[in-house]
Amino acid sequence: MDVKALDQQYVAGTYNRFPVEIVSGKGSIVVDRSGKEYIDLGSGIAVNAFGVADETWQQAVIAQMGKFQHTSNLYYTEPCAVLAKMLCERTGLKKVFFSNSGAEANECAIKVARKYAAEKKGKDCYYILTLEHSFHGRTLTTLAATGQDEFHQLFQPLTPGFLHAKVNDLDDVRAKVAAYPVAAILVEIVQGEGGVIALDESFVKGLETLCREQDILLMCDEVQIGNGRSGQLYGYMNYGVKPDVVTTAKGLCAGLPLGATMLGEKVEHTLGFGDHGSTFGGNPICCAGAISTLSRIDEELLAGVRERSAYIVGRLQGKKGVKAVTGMGLLLGIDPVRPDGDVIRECLEQGVLVLSAHGKVRLLPALNIPLDLLAQAVDVLEEVLAK
Ligand SMILES: *Cc1c(COP(=O)(O)O)cnc(C)c1O
Repeated sequence: MDVKALDQQYVAGTYNRFPVEIVSGKGSIVVDRSGKEYIDLGSGIAVNAFGVADETWQQAVIAQMGKFQHTSNLYYTEPCAVLAKMLCERTGLKKVFFSNSGAEANECAIKVARKYAAEKKGKDCYYILTLEHSFHGRTLTTLAATGQDEFHQLFQPLTPGFLHAKVNDLDDVRAKVAAYPVAAILVEIVQGEGGVIALDESFVKGLETLCREQDILLMCDEVQIGNGRSGQLYGYMNYGVKPDVVTTAKGLCAGLPLGATMLGEKVEHTLGFGDHGSTFGGNPICCAGAISTLSRIDEELLAGVRERSAYIVGRLQGKKGVKAVTGMGLLLGIDPVRPDGDVIRECLEQGVLVLSAHGKVRLLPALNIPLDLLAQAVDVLEEVLAK
């Protein structure tokens, strides 16, 4: 079967796929149709926290499948309740709304911010401030939140009420907050799609102070950097700040769709009956997978993430063909001298999968990638970058 031809004929052409059909894998190795093996430094874009076909994760998911796969949100289920408790206990946030994706997690956060501000400050206070180069999703509202104009063309009108401030520029944020009634500030602690840029600590702390002073909600989009990837459970934990709302998805269930919007003290009662909902959100199989994932993201695993990160940075920073290494933990960006597309293609030819992000080569390996495989992959990357 020519899967590539079938896909090109019948699947909407929204993805510029690599010329590879994945058929199987184990951990950080994936295998294509021809039997060629690749070391995967992309993890399905930060989703496969423990690589593919991980035994522990599979067992958690299969065990729940054997009980029941879905009930609707009209009934209580144990996986949903237990996962919410785990997330709250580990973040200090108070309540969780479950959905199916990062965009949906952000949609919920935006609804929470609008309702909170409407009730407290009046219905004109609906602006959400985000940052330039940010990425918050593909729905019409999260696209409006996304601070990248090229995604906005031809889809107008987007949801109104979004402002975009310059990254790490507190004066620009202050000016916008002075000029518009702002309900919430929504940021990625490390911008992923927008070029792997970690926000400055002083900027994030400044945002927190500004938010406290003006009763603006501080909301962190942890869809990509969350769930252990930063070297802490959530990225904001590296900065010593306390957001009011945290959204996550991608790595939370390590491969099945699950979004979570975590709500702090200020907004724990903002959503009431009928304010929001989702048919699949909090699905018991996804929640069972996430319970297993989250319980493995312990201090030992996080120390391993930091160790792997330091290893990659140490091997590539300042090397021939490398202008800079950016990011945090296992969300790293290599700014290459050569065009990023060439580097990514040649790595693929040599059996290493890496991704792009706004001209950079983006690395998002599994949190537990074996050190020997990581070393092999970095050997290839180092050689290709230096060409
Ligand atoms: C991927 C991503 C999203 C969107 O998530 P989907 O699951 O694709 O809807 C939102 N925010 C950030 C930071 C992301 O990386």
